[in-house]
Amino acid sequence: MQERSSPNTSVASLITANGERLIQAFHRDITERRRTDELVRELAYYDPLTGLANRMLLKDRLIHSMLAGQRSGNFGALLFLDLDNFKLLNDQHGHGVGDMLLAEVAKRLRNCVRQIDTVARFGGDEFIVLLDDLAGDKAQAHSQADQVAEKVRSLLADPYEMVFTNQDGTTVQHVQHRGSASIGVTLFLGQDSTQDDVLIAADLAMYRAKDMGGNTVCFFDAQMQLANTAKAILRNDLHNGILEKQFSVHYQAQLLGVDKITGVEALLRWRHPTRGWVTPAEFIATAEKTGLILPLGLGVLETACTQLSLWSRRRETAHLTMAINVSARQFHHSDFVDQVLAVLERTGANPNLLKLELTESVLITDVEGVIVKMNLLNAAGISFSLDDFGTGYSSLVYLKRLPLSKIKVAQEFVRDILTDPDVLAIVRMALVLADSMGLEAIAEGVETESQRKVLAGMGCHRYQGYLFSPALPVQEFEALLARA
Ligand code: C2E
Ligand code: MG
Ligand code: MG
Repeated sequence: MQERSSPNTSVASLITANGERLIQAFHRDITERRRTDELVRELAYYDPLTGLANRMLLKDRLIHSMLAGQRSGNFGALLFLDLDNFKLLNDQHGHGVGDMLLAEVAKRLRNCVRQIDTVARFGGDEFIVLLDDLAGDKAQAHSQADQVAEKVRSLLADPYEMVFTNQDGTTVQHVQHRGSASIGVTLFLGQDSTQDDVLIAADLAMYRAKDMGGNTVCFFDAQMQLANTAKAILRNDLHNGILEKQFSVHYQAQLLGVDKITGVEALLRWRHPTRGWVTPAEFIATAEKTGLILPLGLGVLETACTQLSLWSRRRETAHLTMAINVSARQFHHSDFVDQVLAVLERTGANPNLLKLELTESVLITDVEGVIVKMNLLNAAGISFSLDDFGTGYSSLVYLKRLPLSKIKVAQEFVRDILTDPDVLAIVRMALVLADSMGLEAIAEGVETESQRKVLAGMGCHRYQGYLFSPALPVQEFEALLARA
């Protein structure tokens, strides 16, 4: 029996039946299947929103690029891009506008690279540009990659205009946006490093570019790797620290005038078995990033409220207020209000003595939601202070709408108040502002009597700082209180 088949649609064979020679043929229309195959391929390898290569195709191209580099001896480069403030745009104008911006970014990226280069959407607002076949000389390849990255950076920083129209062509929304990107770049040569190493290196460099304020190109260097390893160890230690109860809460006195202790601020302390005392400045940011701030923050709340409840049962401590720091991630957590109310219930602490300290970073996203939460807690008797006032993003419009009762003049202002006339002017303005809004003001980080006098001269009579006391374990604080 002979068989002949055309490549894909027909199969014909010569058969013999009852001594007669016959041709038997099958024909199948596979247009539909082809279309389905293409669609499956599209979905598997391309990002539906932007039409760019997706993560999977990018990884595939990266492997090919590394193999090609191995043969040619030429460098390749990977650019890791993350849009700056994309979340803000999404929150303010909705996902439709966010999607439009992503599509426009994709278009600009495609227009500024060569045909052989790959542009991919890595996820969310992250994009990758893979540059193939650069020079064999490292310095030269570096300069080539830098040129492309700078071009990309500058193109993405051009203003964006997004226009939504109805079916009848009328404009319903018109958004103008000044966007930019943080770009991390790494070079690679053949298979000297793995695919994942290359991606991680570019990602680390991108984070550095973000830290430098965004709209920046940053190349990977070995120092970043070290810093990253250190961070990973810190993350791991934090995790163990929570499990092994290495954290405690210390209390720093807050005063009215020079000798009346009105309350305390609870400050988290970490005693690590080999690192020794680790200050919050070293671990709060990492705890925020990893989400470990949630169990840590809840622990502080629980400990401090238990203490507050104990104090309220003794005459000499019953008047003390308790200030607790709440970080952005904690405050924005959907359970935050319920958790605080549950802790109050469990510990029996008086909500009127509880002051939550928020920094301006809490206000960067979802201000409306923040106001709702603050009002709920306020209704339960809890009041709020704005910590490190003047160092972050403060919009006077929002400030007026927040149910605040106190601002804290930031330590970094108090530090320079005697030496820098500009700082003095800022503090004066902050105090006038607080007064006009009916808010109390407390200065933190007061270290010297001269600083205190200047503050008092401007009408600020509440203080916290080493001039009076550092943060202390509870027994030591109680001893201080007894002496006062
Ligand atoms: P913060 O809330 O502004 O706290 C004041 C910081 O200034 C504390 O540092 C305190 O020890 C320090 N300080 C007080 N008086 C002086 C002074 O006279 N001179 C100087 N140079 N420093 C003074 P600490 O305890 O290292 O905390 C740093 C930051 O970490 C805090 O700033 C707060 O933002 C955060 N933090 C501390 N505990 C917690 C916590 O339980 N939860 C959260 N989310 N953040 C916390
Ligand atoms: Mg504070
Ligand atoms: Mg502060």
